[in-house]
Amino acid sequence: MPEITLLGTGGMLPLKNRYLTSLYFEHDGKALLIDCGEGTQVAFAQHGLKLSRIEAIFITHLHADHVTGLPGLLLSLGNTGREKCLPVYCGVSAVMTIRHLLFVAGGLPYDVQIIPINEKKPQTFPFPEIDPLLCVRTLPLQHRAPCLGYQIELGKKPEFLPEQAKALNVPVQFYRTLHAGEDVWLPDGRFIRASQVTGPPREPLRITYTTDTLPIPAIAEFAGNSDLFVCEGMWGDESKKDSMNEKGHMLMQDACRLAVRAKAKRLWLTHYSPAEKSPEDYAEALGTIFPEVVISRDGEHLTLK
Ligand SMILES: [Zn+2]
Ligand SMILES: [Zn+2]
Repeated sequence: MPEITLLGTGGMLPLKNRYLTSLYFEHDGKALLIDCGEGTQVAFAQHGLKLSRIEAIFITHLHADHVTGLPGLLLSLGNTGREKCLPVYCGVSAVMTIRHLLFVAGGLPYDVQIIPINEKKPQTFPFPEIDPLLCVRTLPLQHRAPCLGYQIELGKKPEFLPEQAKALNVPVQFYRTLHAGEDVWLPDGRFIRASQVTGPPREPLRITYTTDTLPIPAIAEFAGNSDLFVCEGMWGDESKKDSMNEKGHMLMQDACRLAVRAKAKRLWLTHYSPAEKSPEDYAEALGTIFPEVVISRDGEHLTLK
């Protein structure tokens, strides 16, 4: 079952009890990491997570609070004995920054492959090495620098219906193949379709991550029906809306309104301004906009089913 941990919830700079915004996704012992600001590897250690499980890293944009933790984390990853190539996905405009950070990291005992992402149109990247039904989608956001939103989508196999299989006298050894969606020929010459012994298609799990962006309508569509929507909320003070928007950010209230439009199951706020000392003060007011809002703290954790 997929596990999600928010390694940090800060924006701009790390604080004593608030590391920079970064999301860790793990499924079947393999992990994806989104964003890697200063201190992200320390947050890994604090939350008892293993760097060695990382299969790929995704960067939203080139601002320091999202990338400067990369050299240290990559060096520590080298100390875990990693030899396998590590893909780092980032927008085209961030490629040079990532190259420079790799230069700072010096010689690593494994290759890093930078994979440039189109910053103008959405893309989809499958991850069959983690799960045949896993993919990562991107959405161009609107920030002071080109920035990407990410969505991790994990498809669910239809449920297997053993009573249907029994009624059709399907030998047990074919159950697994049929559950995997493959049709089979039985030894007695009958052809059984997987759809005869499985339930209807199921909605995939969706985890959407959008930070450092104006609250553009495309986010609501992108995050549609997300099981978990992780979104920035720099401030909770609505009088700061104009200055937030000028800086290419949004308020906690904006994130809640996006979650309503997206029909998200739950919203985790993150990327708080360092000057926003107690974001939980807004919990009650935000709950009136979107009841399933969580004023996330570092280490916020969820297992999705
Ligand atoms: Zn930021
Ligand atoms: Zn930024």
